[in-house]
Amino acid sequence: MNAEIIAVGSELLLGQITNTNAKFISSELAEIGIDVFYQTVVGDNKARLNEVIEIAKSRADILIFTGGLGPTKDDMTKETIAKHIGTTLVSNDEALIYIRDYFKRSGREMTANNKKQALVLKGAKVLPNRTGMAPGMAITNAGIHYILLPGPPHEMELMFTDEVVPYLLGLIGEHEVITSRVLKFYGIGEAELEHRVQSILEKQTNPTVAPLATADAVTLRLTAKALSIEEAQKRITVVEEEIRSIVGEFIYGIDEDTLSSKAAELLIQSGMTIAAAESLTAGLFMAELAGEPGISSSLEGGVVVYNGAAKVEQLGIDKTLLADYGAVSAECAAALALSVKRKFSSDIGVSLTGAAGPDSHDGQPAGTVWIGIAIKNNEPQTYKLLLSGSRDANRLKAARFALHYLIN
Ligand code: ATP
Ligand code: MG
Repeated sequence: MNAEIIAVGSELLLGQITNTNAKFISSELAEIGIDVFYQTVVGDNKARLNEVIEIAKSRADILIFTGGLGPTKDDMTKETIAKHIGTTLVSNDEALIYIRDYFKRSGREMTANNKKQALVLKGAKVLPNRTGMAPGMAITNAGIHYILLPGPPHEMELMFTDEVVPYLLGLIGEHEVITSRVLKFYGIGEAELEHRVQSILEKQTNPTVAPLATADAVTLRLTAKALSIEEAQKRITVVEEEIRSIVGEFIYGIDEDTLSSKAAELLIQSGMTIAAAESLTAGLFMAELAGEPGISSSLEGGVVVYNGAAKVEQLGIDKTLLADYGAVSAECAAALALSVKRKFSSDIGVSLTGAAGPDSHDGQPAGTVWIGIAIKNNEPQTYKLLLSGSRDANRLKAARFALHYLIN
């Protein structure tokens, strides 16, 4: 079964309001496994609404209308549908009671016009409106299911979850559920990722695999359908493992995970302590970690050693090392990581040094970054980045890359 959502209202076409009803209904339908292939918007115009219904019923099993159930002249959804399916509008006692109740509750006077709202399609199931007046309706005609909902989002949403979802579940019987998992990547560009997993992207239909790049991550969303959540998750896991076997080193987490939450989780679980020497980022790396609850058992502290003198005085970096290699170098990053680890007696020392931009620094072009990571008694590892963003973006990226290397 698939559905088409038809939002009725000239104000939508004029750009005065956003079609949030369609967004809401689409995501609710996805959860119960009903595909939405089309969302349509049409103005308050009988002829055009009629045309839309004609097209929609040729390509969808369930037509869901929102808007135009009110008492005013421009509200014409139910009249138009009644005419279209060859039925009439009849006054509904139940609906009349809702409307009377509504007026009682709100302490307002009921007008003759409001009685129009108790008119429903003959033979329709009436869907009570607990927060407004116009009742919704559900009716099946010639194999097509028509569902009419009020326009105001708070009325429509409550009616949808309370009335429409159970109704649709009844219609579709044993039904498919849909679930997704988002794999989050760092250190690989969107294009490169797509290229590497191309064959999976192409052949997969259940789950589908959709790439998406956000501000701080490249992601793949795996969405599967099955008769149970467990079955859908199993399908996702199979493809996730296939993806991990190709680009697993760039995956830092899933769903709500962030680089910092993942790094914090690993640190806390392993019981390792960490300290940082930050030049370029002046504390950003530690701030990212400090945002994670429970990190105080791992994060010892750190120092901001912004200029050369601070590096020498605070962390005992050799003056000749700075003179020979410069502050933006693998040698300096390694020395900073080792030194800060020693100073705080931590298991891990992390360092960040670089040229944030826009100007070059210490003979290195803007965007050059060195990250050092010293773990226990191992040789410190150093990583070079060549970033091309703004000063702010480069500093944040460098901090995130340090978290990324820490996780791997
Ligand atoms: P009423 O009884 O309030 O007239 P109605 O069912 O006739 O309700 P409309 O008159 O079409 O619905 O819309 C009422 C209000 O609901 C609109 O002014 C708008 O604020 C909101 N609304 C309508 N359609 C949508 C939509 N698709 N998305 C978001 N809001 C909507
Ligand atoms: Mg209206």
